[in-house]
Amino acid sequence: MENLIKLIKKLPPENKKLFRRIFRVEEVTGKLVIPKSLQNYVKTSFGGLQQVEKQKIVKIINIVTGESSIFNEIRGLRKIEAKSEVGLPKDEMVERKEECFFCNPLDKTPEDIFGRVKGKYCITASNLAKYAEFHAIVVFNRHNPLKFSLEEFSDYFQTSLRWFKEANKVDEKAIYPFFIWNCLWKAGASIIHGHAQITLTRKPYQKVENLRKNIKKYREKYGSEYFEDIFKIHSFLGLGLCLENVKVIVYLTPLKEKEIMVFSKNLNKKFMEVLYKVLSYYLKIGVESFNLCIFMPPLKPVKGWEKFPYIARILDRGRLETKTSDIGGMEIYASNIVSTNLFNLAENLKNYFSL
Ligand SMILES: [Zn+2]
Repeated sequence: MENLIKLIKKLPPENKKLFRRIFRVEEVTGKLVIPKSLQNYVKTSFGGLQQVEKQKIVKIINIVTGESSIFNEIRGLRKIEAKSEVGLPKDEMVERKEECFFCNPLDKTPEDIFGRVKGKYCITASNLAKYAEFHAIVVFNRHNPLKFSLEEFSDYFQTSLRWFKEANKVDEKAIYPFFIWNCLWKAGASIIHGHAQITLTRKPYQKVENLRKNIKKYREKYGSEYFEDIFKIHSFLGLGLCLENVKVIVYLTPLKEKEIMVFSKNLNKKFMEVLYKVLSYYLKIGVESFNLCIFMPPLKPVKGWEKFPYIARILDRGRLETKTSDIGGMEIYASNIVSTNLFNLAENLKNYFSL
């Protein structure tokens, strides 16, 4: 990540100006003294003494959105002691289970007041414990959440879009859709069986609303589109790629590890293909648990929401067998702490896309 500072220095003035309009970067060095008795441990755990004795810490702040992330790759090398004794319940992920409620959704899940929406590879159920007036589960036909084709993944989302329309028929003021997929327990899922959560609300969620307000302010101040500029910045830093107007970035201020953002003005086939490819890349590199969300403009035109794109964000929540949570007090109260090297991730992702 220290490369980032060198890279910014070398940018042509107009790019540097654009970068500084949105991001601020700070670098500090954390120093420590390692006693002889600990040297072997440090060498085996971190691969050397020097990088631990003087640690480069890079902080990136997105001035427009207020997001900030602190990077220190050393942290990713730490030994995680709290490993679960149970191990990976891999067998539980493969087979259809008699006792799995989602394997028997018609009998074992409630339905919405307007019924269920059935896709080719999924069916909706009403959420038992809601956080929104309209809150459903998209129950995938497949039990194993880590197995899905492009056709299946597209169907999960298309079914969600149909559900939004059905919910909107019941309450025409509910127009703000939201899609979340918490994959497995590290990502907060309480049920193993593959499922996503969808809501339709009368008001957008505050984080989405804040983003909308911030990009509107940005447009008014600079006469320029925030998402176009964000892509330009990531692109000239080698952190972005564009596939038929669908943009992919390895985001400079990620919430957690390996965060990737996909955005587009249109919700078309290409958007789903690109997002699926990102998910496939995740599975290829061994990600086992992730959060995926899709931000969308309202179902009907609303003043102030013009040009709000479709935005998918996805991040890795860590190994299933580790008991330690990847989110601590720092993330909750202060700043995101990340150990991913964004440049390595972007390089590998680009290679994967060029296959
Ligand atoms: Zn199941």
